Amino acid sequence: MTIESFALYVVATPLGNLADLSPRAQEVLRGVGWIAAEDTRHTQGLLSHFAISARLLAAHEHNERQAAGQIIDKLTAGESVALVSDAGTPAVSDPGAKVVEAVRAAGFKVIPIPGPSAAVTALSAAGLADARWLFVGFLPAKAGERRRELEALKAVDAALVFYEAPHRIVDMVADLAATLEPARPLVIARELTKTFEQIHACPLADGPAWLAEDPNHQRGEFVVIVGAAPAAVEEGLPAEAERALVLLLDEGLPVKQAAKLAAALTGTAKNALYARALELKDGAA
Ligand code: SAM
Repeated sequence: MTIESFALYVVATPLGNLADLSPRAQEVLRGVGWIAAEDTRHTQGLLSHFAISARLLAAHEHNERQAAGQIIDKLTAGESVALVSDAGTPAVSDPGAKVVEAVRAAGFKVIPIPGPSAAVTALSAAGLADARWLFVGFLPAKAGERRRELEALKAVDAALVFYEAPHRIVDMVADLAATLEPARPLVIARELTKTFEQIHACPLADGPAWLAEDPNHQRGEFVVIVGAAPAAVEEGLPAEAERALVLLLDEGLPVKQAAKLAAALTGTAKNALYARALELKDGAA
């Protein structure tokens, strides 16, 4: 592979499993004149693993404009530069966009080298059939702001994809469950590509209890996905499904089991039945 002079390569790096650095990414990192890294020490670890020696410069969120200037100087001199973040795809909840914008504005070529991104990795294994999804990234750290933002997201007709840190995961999922439709599907994907990878799916209403049941469930790095609100809830359930659900609840079955059985009996979406069962339990009409 020929490395182009006067070009900035934007290179995705592994989320945890070093074997996920693509052969093309390896070639680029080996071949460029400079690597601009979010954390040069962190990137040095990745490079050492692949026996790549390179000249590094720092490009993090506090010096991005200045780093862009340095990178443009190198490109002007005919060098090639690769831009990497600590993990995943640069500019996705990571620094990089300002560098790319400045390099492009200066008239240089920008070449993406695709690879891991936590959001897409989680979506690929979430099993949600929603055609549309909205990448939200990190919600605000302050509870009030977080809830306000969730209120604004409530009406979005798409799956919502969030990033979260371990020290906020419990509060964040509690706020999701309190603000959004409780029967929406929830997928909590933690430690993707790493030894303790776990991908848990449940109704949103059950998310807080799942996190509380084992301290390990609260450890690591998280992608949280909330599936789109089930359409059947807004349109009303088929009469047959409603009848089956009421009967099963009257027989004393727990909400989850009643919804599951009614879904199996009538072919109606389980999430919609679960939402209706919660309403019936709460005494709503
Ligand atoms: N640029 C990265 C990408 O392409 O996904 C995201 C960087 S952002 C600073 C870091 C966040 O991504 C973490 O707090 C977590 O929400 C998510 N993340 C990164 N690695 C992950 C992993 N292995 N498993 C789950 N989530 C991860």
